[in-house]
Amino acid sequence: MSTDSPHFRLEEVAPGAWAALAGDTGACVSNAGIIDLGDQTLVFDTFVTPTAGTDLRRAAERLTGRPVTLVVNSHHHGDHVRGNQAFSDASIISTERTAELINETSPGDFDAYATHLSGWIESLDQQLADGDSAGRPDVRSDLQSTRAMAQSVLTTLPELTITPPTTTFSDNLVVEGSERSVHLLSYGGGHSDSDTLVFLPDSGVLFAGDVLWVEHHPWAGDGHPDEWVGTIYRLKALAPSAVVPGHGTVADFEYARLFTRYLTFLCDMVKQAEATSTSVAKLAATPIPPQYAGWASGNRFRSSLEALGRRAGLPPD
Ligand SMILES: [Zn+2]
Repeated sequence: MSTDSPHFRLEEVAPGAWAALAGDTGACVSNAGIIDLGDQTLVFDTFVTPTAGTDLRRAAERLTGRPVTLVVNSHHHGDHVRGNQAFSDASIISTERTAELINETSPGDFDAYATHLSGWIESLDQQLADGDSAGRPDVRSDLQSTRAMAQSVLTTLPELTITPPTTTFSDNLVVEGSERSVHLLSYGGGHSDSDTLVFLPDSGVLFAGDVLWVEHHPWAGDGHPDEWVGTIYRLKALAPSAVVPGHGTVADFEYARLFTRYLTFLCDMVKQAEATSTSVAKLAATPIPPQYAGWASGNRFRSSLEALGRRAGLPPD
């Protein structure tokens, strides 16, 4: 379904449930969701800019014919929560830990943040101009999408108001609507210290946030890959009919198998490096296994291993 927004496209995944899938303008980066409960409208995640957040609110109002009263933040990463301000009159729900992390990690000094973003854009431009990536369309496209995000965040920074969650829950919250209900589930940490998913028991649709990424290398450097794998196993019991991932297209839950193998591979590489006192640099140079070579954001494979290796206390080089 088309939307008035250039930043995302809507896909109806079940009656009364839409995935808002990030486009390539850089204003969204992650996916979001809209759920019509019958008497209430719920939004799952809010993108990386207030601009895309506002477009999401408009789309939700248009689709459901009423204002958004409930927003769920899946976890603290900026690309899922920086549109929160578009929903400042709604109840914004997350776990206690996610709310803490949003408060701890959101930029406080916007001038310093703008300087950081400008420097980042310059270095990305440099890498694009260097020519190292000339024969690597995959690398160039990763650099270009990262640049689009950094530019969108910088351009919209003057409008940004950090808007933390207003309501917290611990591990399970059922919201009963007049037409359908949703289950907010948190099995603890995995992708971050605390991840929340939204499950629709009637249709079996699972809004997974960054617990699942489809054909995108996940960022695992803030996470706990062992626990992450455990969370995905627990999701099997729900027998989801379709999954809306944090990044990538809507998929069958069957896809989780391949993704779990990816995370297990990361865990094994880190454990092997620990056992042999391999350096962070050498660990990070692990080649991407061929079955994941076509996934977007290949640079995240390296940066995740680097972060996990540092956290494991491996020598730098
Ligand atoms: Zn994330």
